Amino acid sequence: MNATYLEPVDSTVQRATSSEPLAVLAARSACGLEHSIQRFTATSDQNLGHLEVQAAQDVQSLLREAVQRGAQAKADNTPPLCPVCQQKLSRLSADHPRTFDTRFGTITVNRARGYCKRCRKWRVPADTALGLAETAGYSPAVQEMAALLASKMPVEEASVVLEHLTGVKLPRATLDREARRQGQRAQRLRSQLDQQAATQKPQLELTLEPYQMIIQMDAWNIRERDDWGQSAVLRRRGQEPERWHWVYIGTCFRLDHRGQSAGGRPVISERGFVATRTGMDGLREQLHAEALRRGLGQAAGALVISDGAVWIWRLADDRFPQARQRLDFYHAVQHLAAVGRTLFGEDQAKLKAWLKPLVQQLKNESAIKVIGQLQQALAQLPGGPAAEAVQREVNYFHEHEDRMDYRAGRRRGEPIGSGPVEATCRQNQCRFKRPGQFWSQTGDEALLCLETFWRNDRWRLLFPHTSFDPAQN
Ligand SMILES: [Zn+2]
Repeated sequence: MNATYLEPVDSTVQRATSSEPLAVLAARSACGLEHSIQRFTATSDQNLGHLEVQAAQDVQSLLREAVQRGAQAKADNTPPLCPVCQQKLSRLSADHPRTFDTRFGTITVNRARGYCKRCRKWRVPADTALGLAETAGYSPAVQEMAALLASKMPVEEASVVLEHLTGVKLPRATLDREARRQGQRAQRLRSQLDQQAATQKPQLELTLEPYQMIIQMDAWNIRERDDWGQSAVLRRRGQEPERWHWVYIGTCFRLDHRGQSAGGRPVISERGFVATRTGMDGLREQLHAEALRRGLGQAAGALVISDGAVWIWRLADDRFPQARQRLDFYHAVQHLAAVGRTLFGEDQAKLKAWLKPLVQQLKNESAIKVIGQLQQALAQLPGGPAAEAVQREVNYFHEHEDRMDYRAGRRRGEPIGSGPVEATCRQNQCRFKRPGQFWSQTGDEALLCLETFWRNDRWRLLFPHTSFDPAQN
């Protein structure tokens, strides 16, 4: 048997415009489902997937009709008050139609419009009640789909994946625009939340055990094209139109929220993320707010761990002045290895034999002892570039000596490496640093902001209708 009857039915053709009760429409859909089951049962070349697709189509127009009627009833039921200031609206007029796409197809709602004398603006209260206020033609569920997909994958893929999985058609450019709009909404909400966190007095929470707050920062490069349409002009001037910009990343967590997986891998149950293209100032304020939300105010102490970039220590001194500072252990080891390569060149065996006890010493004893060994090695060199290179590393260890308390840190059960933030960087880069991708600053920030809402388990603040909780998955 062939499967021509499985061809997608255009839901707009089937649109029920009658005033029949939903129960009647549902009965009609149920008949359709019965037929589909019979055809499916009698067909040898179809598996359950065929029935799943067909069944969704059989009920599509019923669902669309239900959403249409619900939206209209809600609009009719919305009091004529300004959604911003609650003032009663004047010069009311009815029947302003608005057409938009929902998860189940296109619907049109007639809304009332009125003038708010206090705001001096025309208002459509039903739009706010339905969650349409800030979007151009998409229901909240579709807004969420665009936001989630665009923050997880390139928009050209997102558009195809969305249509394939849900039937919702959002052309690439539209999906992009909608996702950015949602990202900008997320940015506004983030500023509000950050402001609240910075001004609110910390709630006195009963903490059974004093805990430390761990804070980590890093940065990675993103490729952006700043001057769209100006490429030829810029090239004639000898400039390249694309540029690399820094994305700043931060993460924070309570040390007592760090545990171990069944396999012994360290896992952190609750962790705050920050990712921003708005420069170090943006990172500083966002990370501070995030740390406050995660309990910095009640922490017994804080610890900043980083790879040693100067800007990070400056930022830490500035915004987390009480925090202790620790250089990422693996970066310190890399600097030891650099000395080893200067001393032993390509002789891997000698290099390893020299390096291993030093790494152990750094981890289990003290940085001062390691510096002593480096100085001994330096004294045996005749001078020249090799000696200069080793001297540089000796200076480096002197400079960070106070940040190399690995033994004490390990005894207290604190991390000595900045693994979590580096993992975050890698995950971000998978999405934001693909070959051939260009970004604009505003677009980046919007999508990065969506990503942080998702990862911080605040997705529901943006899309209250969603029942999905990333923290539980
Ligand atoms: Zn108003």
